[in-house]
Amino acid sequence: MRLSRYFLPVLKEDPKEAQIVSHRLMLRAGMIKQQAAGIYSWLPLGFKVLRRIEAIVHEEQQRVGHIPLLMPTLQSADLWRESGRYDDYGEEMLRIRDRHKRDLLYGPTNEEMITDIFRGHVNSYKDLPLTLYHVQWKFRDEMRPRFGVMRGREFLMKDGYNFDLTREDALHAYNRHLVSYLRTYERMGLQAIPMRADGGPIGGDYTHEFLVLAETGESEVFYDSAITDLTFGDREIDHDSHAACQAVLEEFTSRYARTDETHDEAIFAQVPEERRRSARGIEVGQIFYFGTKYSEPMGATVVGPDGSRVPVHMGSHGIGVSRLLGAIIEASHDDKGIIWPEGVTPFHVGIVNLKQGDPSTDSACEAIYRDLKARGLDPLYDDRDERAGAKFATMDLIGLPWRITVGPRGLARNKVELTSRRTGEAEEIAAQDAITRLA
Ligand code: ATP
Ligand code: MG
Ligand code: MG
Ligand code: MG
Repeated sequence: MRLSRYFLPVLKEDPKEAQIVSHRLMLRAGMIKQQAAGIYSWLPLGFKVLRRIEAIVHEEQQRVGHIPLLMPTLQSADLWRESGRYDDYGEEMLRIRDRHKRDLLYGPTNEEMITDIFRGHVNSYKDLPLTLYHVQWKFRDEMRPRFGVMRGREFLMKDGYNFDLTREDALHAYNRHLVSYLRTYERMGLQAIPMRADGGPIGGDYTHEFLVLAETGESEVFYDSAITDLTFGDREIDHDSHAACQAVLEEFTSRYARTDETHDEAIFAQVPEERRRSARGIEVGQIFYFGTKYSEPMGATVVGPDGSRVPVHMGSHGIGVSRLLGAIIEASHDDKGIIWPEGVTPFHVGIVNLKQGDPSTDSACEAIYRDLKARGLDPLYDDRDERAGAKFATMDLIGLPWRITVGPRGLARNKVELTSRRTGEAEEIAAQDAITRLA
């Protein structure tokens, strides 16, 4: 993309409404625009990152055998009356009435709808196990939408639902989700710690939240610092193996790590004092096993091996896709702007032309730009007629991991500068070497 033809409405001044750094940087970098409280347009740069995060989520879900589908944002109230949640859910649910006076709602989650799909089409235990998921917009009429996309009212969530014959199989699905979530967050450059949590309106006591430690997080958490030494890395786990997934769960939940809702001072006191931490965290996902909570009232049953009908065991599993942008920025920025982890960056590299209009720098930049694209990379070429300082400031703000700086002085020696956004280290090398380094 050429910056002169892109739509990147960066702000020079700090927006007053932003209280935390990720919100401020997303506004300044021209990634989002608020349309109403907690409701945002995703401008091109923000949309690009959102799509990259979503793509990682899809890849990791499908890696472990989960099947994508798409359910609508609007749901019929009748479904929610069946589960009893239409009355229970309260004011967070946005209720709508259509022209025929039928009650609808903008889905805050999809347990009822997926259970309805399941009961309409699945009859036999032979069709299990089954895990279906989608990435879809949700609406929750949050009391205090704030911090930009971190607590929106309309937000993008990955929500997945497993259907199993037995409790044991459903707990395996739970563990498998934990495994896949660990890899998902790490690919985004995040450490998200599974912590024992509370079921909330989804229900069930068997649940973990995934938290990214950050001062601006809204959750209060307590943990044994030894847990932060764990990384999932590039392990190959057989996701069908109950034992293999169980072992990962045990490894990652063996240390004390709880949100305030389940925090227990007496147990916490057993952690060696120097390792006891209380901190704040951003909830970026949650997994639940809730058994037959929805399948029983809604009649989602299958014929079991002995011929009798039994309600299926279920769980649901959510990732806050749009919230993740905020969480990643909270975890990765400096005073100049965002520092995107390579896995989610909107462009792989920025090209800065120090002397726009100079035939030799222009053609050197063009050649680098075309070569990078030919290698399947996505460069952003700052070809505007701007001062070098302004171009650097924009690149630093939008946080691309690499910058190639091209100017007449370097070119005289056949060199460009390759700069890492994270470390600030710059290297004078031949353009071709910079390109192969990135490819
Ligand atoms: P929170 O405690 O922050 O209100 P939640 O526990 O109500 O979140 P879940 O029902 O567990 O949310 O939904 C799954 C994920 O969706 C959450 O882990 C979070 O990452 C994301 N999420 C929930 N509410 C919002 C919101 N208002 N804006 C953005 N993301 C959200
Ligand atoms: Mg909530
Ligand atoms: Mg929560
Ligand atoms: Mg939650």
